[in-house]
Amino acid sequence: MSEVIPHWLTKQAGLAPEQTAIEYVNGNTMSFLELKETSQRFARQLAHIGVQKGSHVGILSNNNAAMVIALHALSYLGAVSVMLNTRLTGEELNYQLNDAEVSLVLTSDKLINDIEQMNLSVSVKTFTEITGLPESDVKLMTELYLDDPFTIIYTSGTTGFPKGVIHTYGNHWWSAIGSALNLGLSAGDKWLATLPIFHVSGLSIFMKSVIYGMPVYLLEKFDEMVVHDAIMSRGVTIVSVVTVMLQRLVKLIGGERYPDAFRCMLLGGGPAPKPLLEKAKARNIPVFQSYGMTETSSQIVTLSPKDALNKIGSAGKALFPAQLQVAHPTDDPVGEIFVKGPMVTKGYFKKAEVTKKTIQDGWLATGDLGYLDEGGFLYVVDRRKDLIISGGENVYPTEVESVLSGMEQIDEVGVVGKVDEEWGQVPVAFVVADGQVTGQEIIQYAQNYLATYKLPKHIYFVDSLPRNASNKLVRTELVKWLERMKK
Ligand code: ATP
Ligand code: MG
Repeated sequence: MSEVIPHWLTKQAGLAPEQTAIEYVNGNTMSFLELKETSQRFARQLAHIGVQKGSHVGILSNNNAAMVIALHALSYLGAVSVMLNTRLTGEELNYQLNDAEVSLVLTSDKLINDIEQMNLSVSVKTFTEITGLPESDVKLMTELYLDDPFTIIYTSGTTGFPKGVIHTYGNHWWSAIGSALNLGLSAGDKWLATLPIFHVSGLSIFMKSVIYGMPVYLLEKFDEMVVHDAIMSRGVTIVSVVTVMLQRLVKLIGGERYPDAFRCMLLGGGPAPKPLLEKAKARNIPVFQSYGMTETSSQIVTLSPKDALNKIGSAGKALFPAQLQVAHPTDDPVGEIFVKGPMVTKGYFKKAEVTKKTIQDGWLATGDLGYLDEGGFLYVVDRRKDLIISGGENVYPTEVESVLSGMEQIDEVGVVGKVDEEWGQVPVAFVVADGQVTGQEIIQYAQNYLATYKLPKHIYFVDSLPRNASNKLVRTELVKWLERMKK
């Protein structure tokens, strides 16, 4: 039998009714009591149009409070929220809607016109439309069964087709608990949410909020000035960011220093180039590197505060409730990363085969390569699929990218393997450069840091790199570019 806990928002509204749940940039706030009441009203309005236990409802919106209310409302009905990325095309959205068996999509007033152009295969309603509906007198959930599904979020589709990851209440619960055991809870905490709520990293901030009773400072979109200001003067103590956001904040901070109360810049979502981590360190920014994926309901490995400075580049250790292993069938210390824990999904929606292959005995094969140092700290190296083998030596594209990104004139870089008669494969780099730099100069620079076999054999200057809706570099696309060049 599944563990059961009181509905977390009802509970928090009882414990701390006046406490701020959401704070907006304009200074307005919403308390936990208001959040509960608004969400319950929204639930009854959704019930009026047939949403019920087990319904799959899409949420397609940029960050706003209505989205958070809709999420909680769906949990009051026992329905499942399917979080949709607003950067997907109509075709990609229809794939996910159909695959996830979504019966209704909720969106914002801002997006509705664009969405109407997309010919989505299911009915779409705005949050505002729902709030105009009568309330149906249904019984709302008073408890949450930890094994019940709460959200479905698709993976980014960086290595293949996106897969719908099912998260139970228990997955979100344990993710929040694991994070608290790592970062600690402080009564004065205020977490800034600028990551999209349709990604699990953004969503998880709001789960932590209700579970901890902690205010979230909600940003509709990332703006480095607003984030900087929020850290400097709005009492924000924790911010979750991805690499590009940290890059901009590091540029902006200049000689200033964040207040001491600002205790955590949680960095995740992808590899962090070492030069950036060093710059952040030099500016006293408390960066916590982390590692996780949609399947782990947010970060599962984090570098804790006491180790942050001497283990730069490491993603740290598994959170308290989680386990971590690196499988290395050969002598090579680098191998595939496996993780296990109650925040790890039980599987992909309607993909029994893939689930069986990916999760065995609770251990999730991440598809990522990494190694553990003698202290048990994880270093994520790259995705297994992207490994380049050149003359029998392993070359990890991320390492080469990290080095090149340290060059002042380089804005963005993507490295892949090119078929080579002599070596089997050789690394080549696609570079977006802002200055007058030549390929020769780039290779000369890289020679200072990389063994010869890791040096890119060719530099291709391009205007931009192929990225998916999560803004991740799609290396398979670069490989296609290479193939096209051959013709
Ligand atoms: P798909 O699974 O569809 O190919 P995806 O893996 O990019 O897409 P996400 O779940 O959004 O989908 O991303 C998780 C991945 O991001 C991880 O598996 C890993 O490859 C990468 N990642 C996350 N954190 C780190 C990190 N600290 N260092 C390196 N890579 C990371
Ligand atoms: Mg993945």
